[in-house]
Amino acid sequence: MQQNQLIDPFGRLVDYVRISVTDRCDFRCVYCMAEQMTFLPKKELLTLEEIADVCDSFIELGTKKIRLTGGEPLVRRNIMHLINHLGAQVKNQNLEEVTITTNGSQLPKYAVPLFDAGVRRINVSIDTLQPEKFTQITRWGKLDVVLEGLVAAKKAGLKIKLNTVALKGVNDNELSSMLIWAGEQGFDMTIIEVMPMGDIGSENRLDQYMSVSEVQNKLSQSFSLHESEHKSSGPARYFNVGETGQRLGFITPLTHNFCESCNRVRMTCTGQLYLCLGQDDNANLALALRSGGKEGLKTAIIEAISRKPLGHDFAIERGLSNQAVSRHMSVTGG
Ligand code: SAM
Ligand code: SF4
Repeated sequence: MQQNQLIDPFGRLVDYVRISVTDRCDFRCVYCMAEQMTFLPKKELLTLEEIADVCDSFIELGTKKIRLTGGEPLVRRNIMHLINHLGAQVKNQNLEEVTITTNGSQLPKYAVPLFDAGVRRINVSIDTLQPEKFTQITRWGKLDVVLEGLVAAKKAGLKIKLNTVALKGVNDNELSSMLIWAGEQGFDMTIIEVMPMGDIGSENRLDQYMSVSEVQNKLSQSFSLHESEHKSSGPARYFNVGETGQRLGFITPLTHNFCESCNRVRMTCTGQLYLCLGQDDNANLALALRSGGKEGLKTAIIEAISRKPLGHDFAIERGLSNQAVSRHMSVTGG
């Protein structure tokens, strides 16, 4: 019988795939990248057609949700070809959802095409609402462009969740005003802890790190946070914010382990399938596709899922001063 579901050795159904479509980005966020980055040569990247083949194979193996990320997914040339392809899979009810994580810089241009393709929800990363600070954090970004993108996305009908990385001494004093603003705009918000991924040059993650539990304690002094039924099966806990009516999530990969319910795997833009964000074990899907076609690809995916580890072993003491995982978040995709 043909296999049409992916179940890992711990009995977890894997039906969510995140795909990094490029390692490149038009920003250089201080916690994510060094200012001088060497990116992969274009010829090492999977083509958009190959990525579509990988997505189709995952869909045939029961994947329900695909998230495109990066680097910045919307800077990849002709990215709408892939998004239209996945949108068609949603319209044909083969896939439940295609979503995108973006820094927002290209949303003024892409908000309407994304909605027309069938995307209904996006995550937009924004760490501050102060223009100068925004440029300090992103190095190359402009807040007004991202705000314009958010307006365009909302107008196009996209549901928006903000991703905000908590940065000690940088935006910690702004998180409650950002939460109020997000509520006024009708956006959910997730606050993320800095994770030890990839070399970021002269910046030190110990300086950047603040515990999201600490953030939660502070916010619960000013807001009534009611634990939400909502589950994303990711490493987030969600709360309904009484004062704003929106949801607030906390992602604490370093201080808690949410691996038990993990349902996802991640593929890099070169076709490496990582079975866990915090582990190095991977499978080369590019090779499998190029040598074995779509059947070879499916066999390689099934084999890889049979090796999915129980969980990661990030640890604050070991992880932060150095990097626990040498690849950047922009390679595996956030
Ligand atoms: N460029 C897109 C963006 O910024 O949304 C998508 C890729 S980015 C790698 C995905 C998410 O990862 C963003 O929300 C970003 O803030 C987060 N991120 C990047 N590096 C991180 C790190 N070292 N620790 C925690 N979050 C990180
Ligand atoms: Fe680019 Fe996103 Fe990384 Fe910022 S977090 S440098 S926007 S990939």
